Order: sequence, then structure tokens, then C-alpha cells
Amino acid sequence: MLTLALSKGRIFEDTLPMLARAGITVSGDPESTRKLILPTNRPDVRVVLVRASDVPTYVRYGGADIGVAGLDVLREYIAGSGSDGLYLPVDLGIARCRLSVAVRHDFDYAGQVKQGARLRVATKYLHMAREHFATKGVHVDLVKLYGSMELAPLTGLADAIVDLVSTGGTLKANGLVEVEHIMDISARLIVNQAALKTRTALLKPLIDQLREAAQTPE
Ligand code: ATP
Ligand code: MG
Repeated sequence: MLTLALSKGRIFEDTLPMLARAGITVSGDPESTRKLILPTNRPDVRVVLVRASDVPTYVRYGGADIGVAGLDVLREYIAGSGSDGLYLPVDLGIARCRLSVAVRHDFDYAGQVKQGARLRVATKYLHMAREHFATKGVHVDLVKLYGSMELAPLTGLADAIVDLVSTGGTLKANGLVEVEHIMDISARLIVNQAALKTRTALLKPLIDQLREAAQTPE
């Protein structure tokens, strides 16, 4: 049995068509079922639904053989826990967005940075934010949040946020503007290295098919 870890929402929705192109159809809709294990049309493949930020942990410790996680989640996980035992063979090109710095539209970010001001920055991505501002020589105090980052500059909790942006609609709706682009994000395949060795016959064709699906336009 091969176990694939996915998170509900964007990752699940965008991975489904790629799996279909590899001949795998998942039974059950994660939004309407409470089941956390979903069977597929292949008796030897099942999907487990985990929190987006837990996908690397499941794959690393063998709770899943393979998984799909955003580069944001992966970079943050690897910065904290290292990449031992994980193999990252394919950029699936799905769930595309970018990691950016945003501030209130009336906040003079460039001016503050120029003056060498110390900024308070709220984010879920402590490692990547620290690295970004260190590289730029900007002094920051980081505040860890788990969600609704847009609220931080509006309430005075922080001067800036580091968060994912896709259309910019959420920022705009909250009177925020993007001031720096940190990196492009897309979802990656993560594979348990030990599983790849012991279950090559199951895993290798799936990785190859997903790579093929990622490289070929629909
Ligand atoms: P949780 O709900 O468990 O806290 P989450 O909020 O990070 O996790 P999602 O919002 O489903 O879960 O995001 C999962 C992944 O999808 C992210 O890690 C990122 O790679 C990608 N993603 C997030 N927001 C966007 C977006 N606006 N556009 C495209 N991809 C996105
Ligand atoms: Mg989310």
C-alpha cells in the first residue's frame, strides 16, 4: 500500500487533476467527508488528509510515502528540521503564489528602511522572513502568527507582514500593499527516501507520471 499525504483545499484540488493524469482517481470529497483516509481507484494507493504544515513530517517519518506541499511549507520545515530522509524530485507547478512583504497603504516602508528603523513584522514564516530581512540589512522584530496576517498592520500589532500573495485581492480588500517580493512559491512532491528504496516499483512510476503531468500542459 502506498500512502499519499495531501492537505485539504488548494493542494488537494490542484493535485487531483495531476493524479487523474497518472491514472489515479480519489474517492470522496474532503470538504464534505470527515474521513481522513480516502481510498482511490487503485487498491494499492490511498490518500491521507493532513494539515498543510504537517505534510513534511508525515513523509519524513513514514506516515506517508509521498506528499505534496507548498515550497513555503517546505522551506520553513527544512530550515527548522533539516531535509534528512526527504527527497524532493518534482516541482508540480501548482498552487502558485509568491511570498511577499506587505504594509498598510499609508506606511512609508522605503522611508523607514532608509532611516534604519526597526520594524515589527508579523508572519507564519519566521525562518524565511528572518533570512530575507537579514540579507537586506533591515532590522526586524518578528511576531509569529498562525493566520489572518492581514489584520496585524491594521490593528497596530505589526508594521509589516510576510505572507503569501496570489492575486493581491485580500491585501487590497484590507488596505495593504505589497512592497517586496521574496520568492515564487509552487507545490512540490516530497518523497520518503527509505520508501523510495524499499518500494521503488510502486513509487518510481508514480513520481515519473507526476513529473510528466507537471511538464505537459493539459
Ligand atoms: P492550514 O489551513 O493547515 O493552516 P494553510 O492555510 O497553509 O494551512 P492552505 O491555505 O490550503 O493551507 O495553503 C496550502 C498551500 O497552498 C500553501 O502552503 C501554499 O503553498 C499554497 N497557497 C496558499 N495560499 C495560496 C494562494 N493564495 N494561491 C495559491 N497558492 C496558495
Ligand atoms: Mg490558508
